[in-house]
Amino acid sequence: MKDCIIVGGGPAGLTAALYLARFLRSVTVYDAQEGRARMIPKTHNLAPFPDGISGRDLLDRMRAHAELYGARIETGTVGAVEKQDDLFHITTDHRVETARNVIFASGVVNHRPPLSISNHDQGLGNGLIRYCPVCDAFEIRGKRIAVLGSGAHGFAEARFIRDYSTTVTLIPNDGSLAIAKDGIGVLESPMKYLSLSDSHVIATLENGVTRNFDTLYVALGTTARSDLVSRLGARLCEDGCVVTDAKQRTSIDGVYAIGDVTDGLDQIAYAMGQAAVAATAIHNDLPRTALG
Ligand SMILES: Cc1cc2nc3c(=O)[nH]c(=O)nc-3n(C[C@H](O)[C@H](O)[C@H](O)COP(=O)(O)OP(=O)(O)OC[C@H]3O[C@@H](n4cnc5c(N)ncnc54)[C@H](O)[C@@H]3O)c2cc1C
Repeated sequence: MKDCIIVGGGPAGLTAALYLARFLRSVTVYDAQEGRARMIPKTHNLAPFPDGISGRDLLDRMRAHAELYGARIETGTVGAVEKQDDLFHITTDHRVETARNVIFASGVVNHRPPLSISNHDQGLGNGLIRYCPVCDAFEIRGKRIAVLGSGAHGFAEARFIRDYSTTVTLIPNDGSLAIAKDGIGVLESPMKYLSLSDSHVIATLENGVTRNFDTLYVALGTTARSDLVSRLGARLCEDGCVVTDAKQRTSIDGVYAIGDVTDGLDQIAYAMGQAAVAATAIHNDLPRTALG
């Protein structure tokens, strides 16, 4: 019997594990290792790392930190969470565990551009492909930037990035043409396909012309990994994110949600803050651990 099981070992889940372990609570994290933090080549907006740190290095440090205080971190996928009376039964690849509380820190999945996996991953690694202007638009000031996306979301992302460069081009992903406004450029012909060279993103247009960009922001949206928590009956937002109160409680007693899977700013610092709040609420709600 655990005080808490955490579904997801990204920055949110690992921070919650660290707090709970230091509150002398028993906690296990299950992590499928397919998170967004793992995709970060180097973050430059995390306060203690002025020289930047890769997502993988950050996760390794966070995992070791939580384990130092007794948190158990397991690699594996949680396939089901069921509530019976006041307890949760968590089914993983290897076992069924029981816990008094569950935290969902399962994140979201980014919709990807039409590129092969190897091309995509190479582009992500060398900064040709980006997903998060809040995170790294600062790094590409003054460059030729393409934004792949349509509708209000695509335009809002292009508008945000326009503050960092005078050369921002909005490319709809549905074969249509965007309308030029607010200083955001558009293509003269719909895009036929995307490709990458060593140093550029290349959009080949239907009229045969090619356009080169220094970087491409993917603004195709995300899907929240909220299916397990939804099956428990927790309330979701329209976009699939989990609704929580100020203490990160969901609409189901004993179930919490933190990080990108909730409706908020999809940032590491924010996920860590939510994790601290949830862990403290769980600790305060559990029976005291006072040494006899
Ligand atoms: C390319 C890129 C660059 C970014 N750069 C920055 C940056 O510079 N600064 C910044 O603040 N933010 C950045 N972000 C955003 C940041 O990555 C996220 O806000 C952060 O990772 C959210 O943490 P999380 O723990 O909620 O989710 P994640 O990091 O996505 O972790 C969720 C974890 O849960 C696991 N999981 C999901 N379902 C299950 C299950 N059923 N069983 C077991 N495990 C499960 C996943 O495998 C994953 O490991 C960037 C994002 C991307 C994509």
